[in-house]
Amino acid sequence: MALLNIVKEGDPILRKTSRPIEEITPRILTLLDDMKETMHAANGCGLAAVQVGVLRRVVLIEVEEGKLYEMINPRIVFRAGRQEAEEGCLSVPGKWGITARPARVTARYTDRNGKECELRGDGLLARAICHELDHLDGKLFTDVTLRYIESEE
Ligand code: ZN
Repeated sequence: MALLNIVKEGDPILRKTSRPIEEITPRILTLLDDMKETMHAANGCGLAAVQVGVLRRVVLIEVEEGKLYEMINPRIVFRAGRQEAEEGCLSVPGKWGITARPARVTARYTDRNGKECELRGDGLLARAICHELDHLDGKLFTDVTLRYIESEE
């Protein structure tokens, strides 16, 4: 496994649309492993491939320690309600904002074994799903931030 460099806000790649994965090759499995190591090293609870400079539709989500979702070609198939809560991003260090997101979402995706899976989430998990999937379409949480949180320094 290898630690990858996390791309920061201002890099134009973060505004690009990621391409779907057509076949799960050993290279994609290595990407998943490297993304996991990179996310853990950065203490993140989510990471999209574009954040390590790879424009493919792959995201990792781990809002609960040890419960890692590796999502290939994920899409949201259901959303309901509304929540406002705190959000940050490994690509936007030092910035935290209150965003508006659906209260509940359901996503479908392919896992590393090629199996079709469904993930339902509310609260933080719903926010993480929306946040990471936005990355695949070139969006950042700062696009949906209602107000920023003052950091004490
Ligand atoms: Zn992010």
